[in-house]
Amino acid sequence: MYELGVFLAIWAAIYAATVAMYFGQGYFLIWINNRHPERRIQKNRHGEDRARLEIIQSLKSLIVTCGCMAGGIWLQWMGWTIWSPLELTWLNGVIMFVVSIFLYDAWFYWGHRLMHWRPLYKHHFWHHRSVAPTVWSNYSDTLADAFAMQSYYLVAPIFLPIPAAVLCLHRLWDHINGQIGHSGFEYFADRTTRFPSPMVCVTFHDQHHEHFDYNYANFFSFWDRLCGTIHPTYDETVKVRGENPDHTPVK
Ligand SMILES: [Zn+2]
Ligand SMILES: [Zn+2]
Repeated sequence: MYELGVFLAIWAAIYAATVAMYFGQGYFLIWINNRHPERRIQKNRHGEDRARLEIIQSLKSLIVTCGCMAGGIWLQWMGWTIWSPLELTWLNGVIMFVVSIFLYDAWFYWGHRLMHWRPLYKHHFWHHRSVAPTVWSNYSDTLADAFAMQSYYLVAPIFLPIPAAVLCLHRLWDHINGQIGHSGFEYFADRTTRFPSPMVCVTFHDQHHEHFDYNYANFFSFWDRLCGTIHPTYDETVKVRGENPDHTPVK
């Protein structure tokens, strides 16, 4: 019973912290976006009309996302993982953070493509109801969809000797990146976010919502470039937006 209590306590703490960050960062981004209407990516769509639906669904799916995260940390705490976590030093921390980010990007790319497979798409459709994503869209998923993408945080600690603090840092980075990536406003279009750089800007995932069959990855573009799923106009759009932030979007 004690072990179960620990799990529930970790779960509740992670859920509370994530919800606080979701609203804190969400309203902060809205405050910035309201001062830069010219930065809106999809000029003729107002995804904000779905904000209430997205927030309600996010509060549900975060139960799963935070449950996966809590489960991974708990398994490690119980000693039920293949590897014990490395001692937390700067070197170990940086190495594990980088390894985890790359592993997660691969997990996300292939898991996401799987969810677009017709027999599974019924679990992913909800996320795509946000054609013009907003700061509230990141966690607007069905519970099965959330589990497919976020079970990385449950599985990774079993196979990877990642210290819990580094896993939390990875999750925090994914949260910040994911909410900005769905914000619908572009501030990061420049030469560091287009070919040959593997980095991406907000336009990358925004195009996934607008055009559906492209840009499946999360942090980087190289899986999409390798597999031919990068949107044909991505690099050109980023170039144009970088040079003229209020330019009409390239179609
Ligand atoms: Zn998708
Ligand atoms: Zn999305």
